[in-house]
Amino acid sequence: MNKFYPALFSCLLLASASWAQHDNNPGSNHGNRFEQLGTMLNTPNGYRSASGAPGPHYWQQKADYEINATLNDDKQRLDGSETITYTNNSPDALTYLWLQLDENQHKKDAEGTTTSESKMQGKMSLRQLQGVMGHNLDLGNHIESVKDANGGTLTYTINETMMRIELPATLAPGAKFKFKVNWWYNISDRMTIGGRGGYEYFPEDNNYLYTMTQWYPRMAVYSDFQGWQNKQFMGSGEFALNFGDFKVNINVPADHVVGGTGQCSNYAQTLTAAQFKRWNAAQSATSPVEVVNLDEVKNTMKGHATARKTWAFHAENVRDFAWVSSRRIVWDAMSTQIEGGRKVMAMSYYGPEAYPLYRKYSSKVVAHTIRTYSKHTIPYPYPVAISVEAANGMEYPMICFNYGRAEKDGTYSEATKNGMIGVIIHEVGHNFFPMIVNSDERQWTWMDEGLNTFVQYLTEQEWDPKFPSSRGPAYKIVDYMKMPKNQLEPIMTNSENIIMFGPNAYAKPATALNVLRETVMGRELFDYAFKTYAKRWAFKHPTPEDLFRTMEDASAVDLDWFWRGWFFGTEPVDVSLDSVKYYRLNTKNPAVEGSVDRAQFDRNLENISTTRNKAAGTRFAVEADTSLQDFYSKWDRFAATPMTTKSYQDMYSALTPDEKKLYDSKSYFYELTFSNKGGLVSPIIIEWTYADGTTEIDNIPAYIWRKNEFKVSKVFAKTKEVKSIKLDPYRQTADIDEANNSWPREYAPSRFELFKQQSLPRGATSGTNPMQEARKGGQ
Ligand SMILES: [Zn+2]
Repeated sequence: MNKFYPALFSCLLLASASWAQHDNNPGSNHGNRFEQLGTMLNTPNGYRSASGAPGPHYWQQKADYEINATLNDDKQRLDGSETITYTNNSPDALTYLWLQLDENQHKKDAEGTTTSESKMQGKMSLRQLQGVMGHNLDLGNHIESVKDANGGTLTYTINETMMRIELPATLAPGAKFKFKVNWWYNISDRMTIGGRGGYEYFPEDNNYLYTMTQWYPRMAVYSDFQGWQNKQFMGSGEFALNFGDFKVNINVPADHVVGGTGQCSNYAQTLTAAQFKRWNAAQSATSPVEVVNLDEVKNTMKGHATARKTWAFHAENVRDFAWVSSRRIVWDAMSTQIEGGRKVMAMSYYGPEAYPLYRKYSSKVVAHTIRTYSKHTIPYPYPVAISVEAANGMEYPMICFNYGRAEKDGTYSEATKNGMIGVIIHEVGHNFFPMIVNSDERQWTWMDEGLNTFVQYLTEQEWDPKFPSSRGPAYKIVDYMKMPKNQLEPIMTNSENIIMFGPNAYAKPATALNVLRETVMGRELFDYAFKTYAKRWAFKHPTPEDLFRTMEDASAVDLDWFWRGWFFGTEPVDVSLDSVKYYRLNTKNPAVEGSVDRAQFDRNLENISTTRNKAAGTRFAVEADTSLQDFYSKWDRFAATPMTTKSYQDMYSALTPDEKKLYDSKSYFYELTFSNKGGLVSPIIIEWTYADGTTEIDNIPAYIWRKNEFKVSKVFAKTKEVKSIKLDPYRQTADIDEANNSWPREYAPSRFELFKQQSLPRGATSGTNPMQEARKGGQ
């Protein structure tokens, strides 16, 4: 879809230039890196203001759902009947509606599968082989009927993952349309077919874990900036969804426990008396209370109830609804206070294999996450926040699915523990981006993943200063930024077209925001502006320009160069300290300057000829015959004379007090020349180490490059002599080559290993399980 940047798109065809080089001031001599973005952004209008705030005529559609779902645990099938009330708040009259049938992603001939490249490899996992072979299963949505409120049949057309429903009459601005869809589908095996939802089978106890996501036909988004968002669901580009209210009744085997988006209104019926009592106790508990405990689960897992129960959920102002159901889940809950004093229930659902990790950490990490995000964005507005262990990582409003299972003996590696904490923070954090600040994930992965990964980093670092965050610190993006140009895409790339999804859409925008906060804007200006963005766009649909504009609007920092370089370009930061020139003031005081002049004069007398002549024992004529010496043979041409001394004193006494102060400051002047070898313009951070061992930092904003984007010089006056200079000492600019950052040049030794070592999993400081070793050793 090219509705976003028509002006840019046509220029791109004409000039075939890279985004970074895109000229909107082609006559400029110095380059384009500091020109305003201008036509590269959508034109502001009544819906979206030039300030980055929603405009006076901002509108968005609403979709309310009432759904009855029945889970068949024998056949792994889900049947549903849903009534959608769609409110047309747009100024446009609509003649049809688009719904999303995401489950069609799993069909054997799905577009996402047929258009994915595949290759045979020497070593392939079962899942990779499955991907190459495809499957012959009956997967995907079966639409039984589509009817209006009066039971009249509605015509519909299915195109892959999208379904168009013909409206019986034009839907006027402000009007509502109510209709009903009946459907069913076979739930897919998430562990072999892949995808975000489905079932996981546990052969050891013959039980299933159902994580139900994108499970009902969902309204597509109709917006002011692109009409219907009906770009097909191919697997990478996630979802564009409307806000609405949900009433969902979920019918499952009576021995299942169900958790879902929103609040359950009939725990009194679905839980045992003891469990319901524990649920009530959890309301004021500050550490997790097991509402359904491990002993109960171990017991339930042995049987298969034939009776059924219905769990009734409701959720207000959410963009989606997801749920979990199984007879093999422990459920714990605790209460936490977030900014503004509201109480939120932090809860977790997990199987026995995750118990040693989830019981200890999960709900406390959930609570820490919503508290920390609330501080950096807006107070968490929902009543619950849930983490479910499902050996993956995927987010929905109020509920998300994470990983982290222990060994059979209850021990776990450090990598598993930190991976689990990281994924819970990340997925719970998604409540803010995109569940509340509701960007279009189908178009822009970075708008939720990048922003979320950034706040995830802040949250991890507030959890434990030693937490091994893999994304956020500037130096961690260097390996990606260093890659050959043909493997890089700008952050502003449609989700489906991104090469290297993780570094591009998660790590790079997260790093960019961290650089913006710590190095470009400073925490105070950044935090205010970032909060302003979250406040302005909570429960609305922002676009990239709404973020770009708000960050400037709220801070008075011109950031066009920053967005252009980091978000529209692929160039890396590589600032080189090319030369250092040292200047001292000539005091004209003969008593001071004489020795300096003398040293220089003497140095000129020592050249290769005189040195070798001396070494060869040459008998110099003026030394052999002393009668050749006279006044000038011993004259010190640099010695102070009464005349030169008086001339200096006259000059000095004529200075004003201010001039004298400057004159006496004995400043050392250093002229530094830098070159921009990477292309991405960056602040220059200079650490001076003085001859006396002390250090000082100077921070030069990136604006210094605005008139010459490739080479700049700057003079620094210091009161002390400088011994060495280092650029970016805290590695905060993502400079890809540190070798040219020091004066004199420093060469840090690199280590090499003779033996190939296995690479470690994410967050691991050791690939082993020391906890297990310690236990075996009887410690
Ligand atoms: Zn994510």
